[in-house]
Amino acid sequence: KLTHFGYQKIDEREKTEKVAEVFNHVARHYDLMNDLMSCGLHRLWKAFAVSQAGIREGYKVLDVAGGTGDLTLSFAKQVGKNGEVWLTDINETMLQYGRDRLLNKGVIVPAMVCDAEKLPFPDNYFDRVVVSFGLRNMTHKEDALSEMNRVLKQGGKLLVLEFSRVWKPLRNLYDMYSFSVLPWLGKHVAKSAESYRYLAESIRVHPDQATLQKMMEDAGFVCARFFNLTAGVVALHTGMKL
Ligand code: SAM
Repeated sequence: KLTHFGYQKIDEREKTEKVAEVFNHVARHYDLMNDLMSCGLHRLWKAFAVSQAGIREGYKVLDVAGGTGDLTLSFAKQVGKNGEVWLTDINETMLQYGRDRLLNKGVIVPAMVCDAEKLPFPDNYFDRVVVSFGLRNMTHKEDALSEMNRVLKQGGKLLVLEFSRVWKPLRNLYDMYSFSVLPWLGKHVAKSAESYRYLAESIRVHPDQATLQKMMEDAGFVCARFFNLTAGVVALHTGMKL
């Protein structure tokens, strides 16, 4: 089967392998590529997510698919010495870059390789769980969301920052950007056009705002809502565990 862009649809196992391959390729250039691809906007999107997290001193926070650790870094500064922020990712190479980067900034956090679909944490442990630009890469998103619900305390909050459905009048322009500029940047900066073609395709097939809100409700979250950022290029979804 082909998607509407002509790429071959891949099955579940292939997707997991593809995601591992992509992030092994892009890890070294990940932060630079984020700045180039989003013209620095990813910093504002992440700052907005941090502002909505309502972190207090002493909180336990889980950064799922944390990669190079942008959000972990912000949260680590807020929770103080009695809090905990865990940096986790399924990809060891990304996690290594993240942990080293935080160490260079003088921040030491527990870091663990783990799959969001099988989180190795007890029930009701965290005050906040955050996943930033990670959910769309997960093969079984429903399982990952219900795991995030399980490890949250009652009254805890999940924040999902992710690419989403762009405002309709801008869609053609956005598609042109995604499927020409991104692979071009990938080819010339990260030396992997294919990885960035995959990223563009993964954004295109990710659930839109209303669908993801419903998925969060189905996973047990209440007060699920979302904020559109930059005309829906990105959306921040939040939900509480009762
Ligand atoms: N959170 C970081 C950020 O906002 O910059 C990194 C996002 S990066 C685009 C996506 C990350 O998701 C990669 O590091 C990848 O290894 C991770 N990932 C993909 N599938 C995962 C899974 N099932 N469990 C945990 N992490 C996963």
